[in-house]
Amino acid sequence: MKRITVGLLGAVLASTSVFAQDFSQVNITTIPVTDNIYMLQGSGGNIGVSIGDDGTFIVDDQFAPLTGKIVEAIAALTDKPVDFVVNSHWHYDHSDGNENFGKAGAYIVAQDNSRHRMETDQVVSLNGREQEAYDASGLPKITFMDAMKFYFNGNTIEIVYTGPGHTDGDAQVYFRESNVLHTGDMFVRYGLPFIDQPNGGTTSGMIDSLWEIAGLIDDDTIIIPGHGQLAKRSDLLEYRSMLVTIRERLQAAIAQGQSADQVVASDVVEGFAAPGAGTERWVRAAYEEYK
Ligand SMILES: [Zn+2]
Repeated sequence: MKRITVGLLGAVLASTSVFAQDFSQVNITTIPVTDNIYMLQGSGGNIGVSIGDDGTFIVDDQFAPLTGKIVEAIAALTDKPVDFVVNSHWHYDHSDGNENFGKAGAYIVAQDNSRHRMETDQVVSLNGREQEAYDASGLPKITFMDAMKFYFNGNTIEIVYTGPGHTDGDAQVYFRESNVLHTGDMFVRYGLPFIDQPNGGTTSGMIDSLWEIAGLIDDDTIIIPGHGQLAKRSDLLEYRSMLVTIRERLQAAIAQGQSADQVVASDVVEGFAAPGAGTERWVRAAYEEYK
């Protein structure tokens, strides 16, 4: 429990201190996933990298000031430039490198709702941070509604929209032959996941999406989560169970007529998160969904 709690607060703090973040101190770590797929970690969402004869395909591009270091890390793996950047969704910690990669010649790809959000100024509800519209170079030139495929580097790369969850434009990127899935922030490895309700996210949508995702993969699948270390299908199902349990408790409390304050003061997230500002924000947002 302690680890989970620290994880949640850490994530919230990292997000709220984004303006003050000194990117010169961030190093990019390369973690092999298969013989031609890697996970890069720096600051922000995990990056998936597929290299091979066809070129370089990445999922997410973190913060703009990190692009140089990300390109350097990729250059250590392959001499081919980045052809495609798939955004798992539009949040800045996953997509603020878009303008740099777009200017360098990569095609940005995203779910259509995510592209529309990137066209205009947004506010990320976790911390109220404003995210300015991207210029043309940072906008996805290719979008999809429900699903699309790439046949690239020996993989059938299936990109799937499973409905609203973390936001209203999340993409799952499944490298079928390699059996590797990048989930974006639909699945993260800290306690309570951020669900961006004002921007189309929903708890029940996330629960449903996780079930659909679990059906797409198997027990041998290696999952690159939106944040945190590599995972398995069982980790994703355990995380889904947590959300189901919390939803049940929340709905029972609401059925009893409890107010938001009463629910915050109750044990609705007991076993999953300790009391604190981050937990309270989460519970109030979920309460609004189900009241
Ligand atoms: Zn996000």
